[in-house]
Amino acid sequence: MVQESKLNVGILGGGPAGCFAAYFLKDFCNVTLIDFSNLMRTILPTGGGRCNLAYSEFDFRELAKNYPRGEKFLYSVFSRYSTAETIETFEKLGVKTYIQEDYRIFPESNSSKTIQDALVKSINGVNVKREKGLRIELKDDKIKLITDMNSYLFDKLVIAIGGHSNFEIVERIGVNIIPPVPSLVGLVTSQNLKSLAGISLNNVSCNGYSGDLLFTHKGVSGPLVYKISSLKARDSKPYSLLFDLYPNEFDLQQLLNNNPHKQIHNLLSDILPKKLANYILSISGVDSEIKCHMINGVQRDKILSSIHEFKVDVIGCNRDGEVVTAGGVDLIEVNSKTMESKKIKGLYFIGEVLDIDGFCGGFNLQNCWSTAYVASNAILNSNID
Ligand SMILES: Cc1cc2nc3c(=O)[nH]c(=O)nc-3n(C[C@H](O)[C@H](O)[C@H](O)COP(=O)(O)OP(=O)(O)OC[C@H]3O[C@@H](n4cnc5c(N)ncnc54)[C@H](O)[C@@H]3O)c2cc1C
Repeated sequence: MVQESKLNVGILGGGPAGCFAAYFLKDFCNVTLIDFSNLMRTILPTGGGRCNLAYSEFDFRELAKNYPRGEKFLYSVFSRYSTAETIETFEKLGVKTYIQEDYRIFPESNSSKTIQDALVKSINGVNVKREKGLRIELKDDKIKLITDMNSYLFDKLVIAIGGHSNFEIVERIGVNIIPPVPSLVGLVTSQNLKSLAGISLNNVSCNGYSGDLLFTHKGVSGPLVYKISSLKARDSKPYSLLFDLYPNEFDLQQLLNNNPHKQIHNLLSDILPKKLANYILSISGVDSEIKCHMINGVQRDKILSSIHEFKVDVIGCNRDGEVVTAGGVDLIEVNSKTMESKKIKGLYFIGEVLDIDGFCGGFNLQNCWSTAYVASNAILNSNID
């Protein structure tokens, strides 16, 4: 990363992607980093305040499988910069990390603030402007950025505005945006599940995936649901989901035979939370008070299907998860080896502004670190003769 004359590089957006790019570029370019708010503020809520910054998968093709949108595009990105490089860079920034049992990677401090502090410190000396980018104009081989306070002429402009802002600033210069929809969210169901709110079940399965399920006032949530919401982010609603609430082997007829005088709700409460057991009986049309020996074959099968094929109709999203955006800058228009726009020379896209999103597990931040590195490296190499 050595070069001769210094390029003027603008970075719009001071979140994880923008700050990471500023770190790689600052010693070799004149970098101006523009954000209308505090740098790295968006890292603070990540990982429940602990910042799950990466995932312990060191094979880049395997890692890319965790991105419902962007998998193929990321092959090239991750082959250049992936999990090992992320750990190494943070180590250089003074942040030691550890791998949790479930392969997710966190800072040893278990605090997102550590990541914010380290990155903000690492870009000390960068020209930081607290301004809002409003418009981009193309001027010969330069790119003009107009903010609410100034205008700048850059050799290169890196767009790192994330997935939650207005994409109009890039749409106006002809960049195609895949319409954004929420991913990694809770789901709102047409069924009223309020009476079950707060109940959490382990190892529920749905659509070939298994994980924890949480009932909420509006529907369903928890890690399994976040994954499903990601896979189905572009499906039109309503759609139905079938959960197996108790995938373990159990013989209900045997249990009924062994407990003839037990009320059915008490029997089911041995395997499911009490309120859920009652709910299962009510949707099965079975009186919860009746004794086990009174349950006939039809009722038994109805109870079993209510447990193993618990149906919900999804009518909306509830923004209670990581809430990332599926959609953004169309990957067809971006060179995956450089992150440069194929249409507009000198314009780069990194992080969540791209039509890339992953599951929960550190994948979305990994996208930020990796695309920021690839863009920075390409910018630096572009200035070497
Ligand atoms: C609650 C929550 C928890 C999460 N937990 C995790 C986790 O543990 N692990 C993980 O991998 N991912 C997690 N994510 C996702 C992750 O935080 C995002 O994918 C990541 O922050 C995206 O980084 P970014 O730099 O691309 O965009 P952002 O973080 O959105 O940053 C964009 C920046 O650009 C600025 N900006 C936008 N528009 C303009 C403009 N016009 N002018 C000037 N500035 C502008 C914004 O102020 C912001 O600072 C979580 C998300 C949420 C909401």
